[in-house]
Amino acid sequence: MAKKTKITKTGNISEWYSYIIQQADMADYSPVGGCIVMLPYATKIWESIQGYHNINLKKRGVENANYPLLIPQSLLEKEQEHIDGFSAEVAWVTEGGSEKLSEKLAIRPTSETIMYHFFAKFIQSHADMPLKHNQWCSIIRWEQTLTKPFIRGKEFWWTETHTCHSTKKEAEGEVSDGLKDYVNMCENLLAIPVIPGRKPQHDKFPGADYTTAIEAMMPDGKSLQLGTSHLLGQHFSKMFNIEFQDKNEKKEFAYQTSYGFSTRLLGGLVLVHGDDDGLVLPPKVAPLPVAIIPMWKTETKDKIITKAKKIKELLEKQNIDVVLDLAEDKSPGYKFSRWEQKGVPLRIEIGENELNDNTVCCVRRNWKTRLNNNPDLNKKEIIATADIQKQIPKILEEIQKELLCDAKKELDKRYSVAKTRKDFDKVIKEANGYCEAGWCGDEKCDEQIKEETAARIVLIPDKPKEKHAKCIVCGKPAKESVLFSRKY
Ligand SMILES: [Zn+2]
Repeated sequence: MAKKTKITKTGNISEWYSYIIQQADMADYSPVGGCIVMLPYATKIWESIQGYHNINLKKRGVENANYPLLIPQSLLEKEQEHIDGFSAEVAWVTEGGSEKLSEKLAIRPTSETIMYHFFAKFIQSHADMPLKHNQWCSIIRWEQTLTKPFIRGKEFWWTETHTCHSTKKEAEGEVSDGLKDYVNMCENLLAIPVIPGRKPQHDKFPGADYTTAIEAMMPDGKSLQLGTSHLLGQHFSKMFNIEFQDKNEKKEFAYQTSYGFSTRLLGGLVLVHGDDDGLVLPPKVAPLPVAIIPMWKTETKDKIITKAKKIKELLEKQNIDVVLDLAEDKSPGYKFSRWEQKGVPLRIEIGENELNDNTVCCVRRNWKTRLNNNPDLNKKEIIATADIQKQIPKILEEIQKELLCDAKKELDKRYSVAKTRKDFDKVIKEANGYCEAGWCGDEKCDEQIKEETAARIVLIPDKPKEKHAKCIVCGKPAKESVLFSRKY
């Protein structure tokens, strides 16, 4: 019988991704194509993200609320540019029970229209603002393209924040604060370095003045958009009559923003940190940061299990969630791979040596990745049992930092600057990553690059490395320094 070849990340990243997501109990496919169930293991990660983000929202005066799922057609179509942008992706309810509805109801593809219907009631005077509501919910966008769990699907879960302000300047500040929160969350919680910037106007959110976004580089050289923040200006407030009396009792329309991110973050987390053996999770979001694997012989079994239980207790006192794997019918080797697949950041092994020496043996999940940069690295770290409460939190913090540091190195490797079209083509073809270059501002040049190379403008970064003189496509004077890349 032919030996089954292992599915590897470098071999076929797409196959690897689908495989480990199922192996790690993150998701399973729905009978409805393009939809998934987000299983408890993934939901726990999502809850960590929610917990972290809710604190940030609260600090900025954003309140959570829950708005209706169904949006009457007339509401959805009030802002023309908005509906033009979404019409191809809207799922409609046309019947209720056995009755045909007199007006079609959209299942929310995003909630601007239904929320702003209410905002018009809530806001009368400048004293009613800023108004800042967020909701955590799932939405439907009828994707026609190929779907992939968490990365692209017909249904996904997200956070959408919608705010109203009495001045444009204040709204612009909100757009920027919202995006800054996302940058910090990606780096500090998920250990994913991201690039903030603006979208070209031809790629902005339908109905927005402008769109800002964060992009992250994936190991296959494609960029993944992980969050967006839009200045909506007065487009929607004029259509929905979100009017207020300013301090001089003059009527004005509110200035609005919306911003959000989705469970796509989970896809990014898997792609950026995972390896051939499965997930690699940053300790701050890992549902189980530590797995204890006791290894016993009959004569030492009781003592080793007692010690393992004691260590679990000590760590739980420090609010570190621990799994102690006591399964009798599985070998230690099997248990090692099982918890590796699930991305548990730290494994603690306790066998006869550790029992006799009053120690435990620790193995970091990201050990192999670190080995690439540091060939002298010792896989095993021996810690005195007495130091557990001091050392384990420290190691978990180190792992968190190592993951971000390694991901930043990968991003640096995949960021190039091109002065000529020849350099540009070489980068796009070989380096598979971002190529920073000049752009004249014409959408046609973006289209042309897309046809010729499959890459396109993904972002106008806030801090480009260089100021480019000429458009990389047409050679006319450059208006912007932009990032080209293939994208998800
Ligand atoms: Zn051009």
